[in-house]
Amino acid sequence: MEDIAENLARVKSRMAEAARAAGRRPEDVTLVAVSKTQPADAIGRVLAAGHMTFGENRLQEVEEKWLALKETHPGARLHLIGPLQRNKARRAMELCDVIETVDRPKLAHALARLMEETGHRPDCYLQVNTGEEPQKAGIPPKNADGFIALCRDELALPVRGLMCIPPVDEEPSLHFALLREIATRNGLSGLSMGMSADFEIAIQFGATLVRVGTAIFGARRPLAG
Ligand SMILES: *Cc1c(COP(=O)(O)O)cnc(C)c1O
Repeated sequence: MEDIAENLARVKSRMAEAARAAGRRPEDVTLVAVSKTQPADAIGRVLAAGHMTFGENRLQEVEEKWLALKETHPGARLHLIGPLQRNKARRAMELCDVIETVDRPKLAHALARLMEETGHRPDCYLQVNTGEEPQKAGIPPKNADGFIALCRDELALPVRGLMCIPPVDEEPSLHFALLREIATRNGLSGLSMGMSADFEIAIQFGATLVRVGTAIFGARRPLAG
């Protein structure tokens, strides 16, 4: 069994060190502990250590684990970091505090309608497919300015920033720099980028959210069912 509390502390101190090295304040970078596939008892250790911000990529898993965890830990904040189908947008808005994967106009329109209807307004990040990978979600970089204008200006979604998942076999810093460039020219301050293998580089390039799973929880378990 991994010592999860120790791993969490180590990740946080590496984050703070990376922020200071980049001339940034450690409190300007938030850790999203990615708990996908991890059982509730593992998540409980992170909560017990006082960490409250988590990421999940499947809504079904959020339902299975977090309805109970949020009862006992009402201060916990959940980020949806996986693809969102339009017909699940309502449920996602009810269960998640932040939706990091707004990645296409149809979804943006659906979220805008639901926010109007429910008055519930989770923070949104727009996912950019910086590597232009056909199998990956996200808006292509060349369409990003238009998509930001649609989401923020036309639909008035609470857009906090941009999110990317760089291709596994490429230098991540190129993708982090590209995401930062798109955000800067559009006046957006939030950057969700960096995972276990590269969160320090992401912080150097301005990440405000890093999404870290295995460096905290250890290897992911196979999904049941
Ligand atoms: C799983 C996942 C992560 C965390 O990855 P690790 O390498 O385990 O830190 C981050 N972001 C997204 C979108 C993920 O799906």
